This record gives sequence, structure tokens and C-alpha cells, in this order.
Amino acid sequence: MDHTNPVSDLAIVGGGPAGLFAAFYAGLRSLEARVFEALPFLGGQVAALYPEKTIFDVGGLPGVRGADLVSALERQARFGTPDIRTSEPVTSLEAHRGGFLLQTSQGTYQARAVIIAVGVGAFTPRPLGVPEVDRWEGRGILHTVSHVASYAGRHVLVVGGGDSALDWASELAEAGATTTLVHRREAFRAVESSLHRAERAGVHIRRSTVVDNLEGTDRPERARIRHLPTEKTEEVALDAVVLSLGFVADLSAVRAWGLPLEGRHIPVAPDRMAVTPGIYAIGDAVLYPGKLPLIASAFSEAALAVNAAATFLDPRAHLHADHSTSIAR
Ligand SMILES: Cc1cc2nc3c(=O)[nH]c(=O)nc-3n(C[C@H](O)[C@H](O)[C@H](O)COP(=O)(O)OP(=O)(O)OC[C@H]3O[C@@H](n4cnc5c(N)ncnc54)[C@H](O)[C@@H]3O)c2cc1C
Repeated sequence: MDHTNPVSDLAIVGGGPAGLFAAFYAGLRSLEARVFEALPFLGGQVAALYPEKTIFDVGGLPGVRGADLVSALERQARFGTPDIRTSEPVTSLEAHRGGFLLQTSQGTYQARAVIIAVGVGAFTPRPLGVPEVDRWEGRGILHTVSHVASYAGRHVLVVGGGDSALDWASELAEAGATTTLVHRREAFRAVESSLHRAERAGVHIRRSTVVDNLEGTDRPERARIRHLPTEKTEEVALDAVVLSLGFVADLSAVRAWGLPLEGRHIPVAPDRMAVTPGIYAIGDAVLYPGKLPLIASAFSEAALAVNAAATFLDPRAHLHADHSTSIAR
């Protein structure tokens, strides 16, 4: 077993809003944190499911685009220079020499305390079912687009039929990309305004159409798409494919860790968010009387859990941090 990774004070499992704010708060408490996120990007449900939607109920932000909230959270999370590891799901968690041992897809890590911020489970993108996709993952096969403007003048194929597929297609077309949107059904699962926006932006919308194959060398360059009712095929030139087919949330890893679960949730004591000594849980993963599955609640729970972990790691530590305004930077 590879134990060469330095032991961290805190392992934070999940890089959604709860995990990212916990990483920030760990920095505020001078704890060394390591964050593990299953997906190749941070932000949890906000980034995966509704990056283009406006969120209105985060205090101090009267309306913030999901993607903008995620990048602000990520910037804030880096306050104490945590080790943030994406595309690295935690598969096992066990007690080890007074601390904890976490096994991920990449290695083994030790931590003195753990915060579980797994939301509704580890996300994996729903597959397209075309074999070439895995080969180009991250090299032209995307699930979110970080710099939409950089696709101006390029060809992008977006696959999916929900709000986020329509939103990505509209954003890309508005930024000057030649954008084709392929959806296997006739009707979209999206609000009408999203469809109207895509039409206004000039997205080439292909309904009842599937992707038969992708071709290219280092990255996808062409797609063959097929209109199901007529079996007519069409070749589309492309520089990138955005797969917006949704995500599958998988809680099976957490079930295997032997923690108490009630349905899909971990019951916690809401004063310290403790599950067992040294293990805390926060965000959508948890259940307690009055729990609100909101981003704002996740932030408060993160502060409670990190403060509790700080006193677990050092019983002389104060339960409450100084106000952040006391910090000189
Ligand atoms: C469509 C929609 C709209 C919403 N709108 C709002 C809104 O307007 N306002 C609001 O406050 N809330 C809203 N919410 C709810 C909000 O998104 C959640 O409350 C919030 O995302 C919870 O954050 P979290 O970090 O607990 O979980 P998540 O956001 O689910 O993040 C958990 C992360 O943990 C990762 N993970 C899980 N298991 C593992 C593992 N074993 N190893 C590594 N990583 C793992 C997952 O991949 C995921 O990225 C909305 C939700 C949806 C679906």
C-alpha cells in the first residue's frame, strides 16, 4: 500500500459547495485539508446540473450564475492552500492508527479527521454509448465548458435534451461557435425559454437524432449523426463535443464505509455535524431535524464541522474560529 502521501489534518470527501466551503474554513482554522472529488471538475450539483442557472438565495448575492458561484467558491477554498484532487473518487474509508485511511482511484491517503460532503453521491457522467468517447475524454470530449469564448469560430456538437444542453448550446452559439445540438427525442425536457434562446442564437437543432460515431485522430473531428424517423445520416465537422446527458449519482461507496445511513442520508447531530468521533458529514448528504437542502445551509454546516474537527484534533483549540475579519492578509 502506498503511504507516501503526507498525512493531512482533514480529508474532505466531495468538492461540491459543502466540501469547497469546508476547505476554505479549514484554511481559516490553519488545518491542512485534502479534498477529493469524483468528477473532473468542482462544484457538485451546481456545476454538473445547473451551471447556467441563476441562484437567488445565497446571502449577499442577489443573483449569481451557478458557474460563477462555483469559481468564487473554488477561489475561496484555496485560501489555506488545500490539496484539491479532482477525478479521484474515494472508494474506501477506514479507521487506521488513531486516524483514517482513504483509498481512492489514484492511491491511499491518511487523514486525522474526515468530513463527508458527498451530496447525493459520486457523480459520473451518463455515457454516450459511442466507444471513441473514452479515448478523447478531456481532449475534445467535454461535460462543461470553462472558456466559452475560446470556441468562437469553431464547431461544437452538444448532445442532450435538458436545460443544461440547451444552455450550453446557446452560450456557445452566442459566443460565435457553429453549434449543433443533437437530442434523441422529439421533445426537450427543458423550460420553453431555454429552447427559444437556442433558436434565437442560431443553434442547429436536430431532434429525434442520435450520434452513431465519432472520428478523428488526437481529438474528435467529425460526427456521423442519424435522424431516427428517416434513418437519414449527416456528417458534422467538429472541434469539440459537449456531452450534456446528465449524471448518475452513486452512493454505493459511502454505503460500504459502514456509516449509519437513513435512506440516502447520514444522520448527524446538528451542533457539530458529527457521525462518529473524527468523522463529520455536511451538505445534502446529511439528515437532522430541520435540515434544509440548500447551499446556504451547507456553508453553515461546513463551519460547524470544521470547528468540531479542530477541537477533535487539538482539544485545546477553541470551538469557534475568530471572525474572518480578524485575519490580516
Ligand atoms: C436543479 C437544481 C437547482 C437547485 N437550485 C438551488 C438554489 O437555487 N439554491 C440552493 O441553495 N440550492 C439549490 N439546489 C440544491 C444545491 O445544489 C445543493 O443543496 C448543493 O449542491 C449541496 O451541496 P453538497 O456539496 O452537499 O453536494 P453536491 O453539490 O451534490 O456535491 C457533492 C460532490 O461530492 C462528490 N462525491 C460524492 N461521492 C464522492 C466520493 N466517494 N469521492 C469523491 N467525491 C464524491 C460528487 O461527485 C459531488 O460533486 C439545487 C439543486 C438542483 C438539482
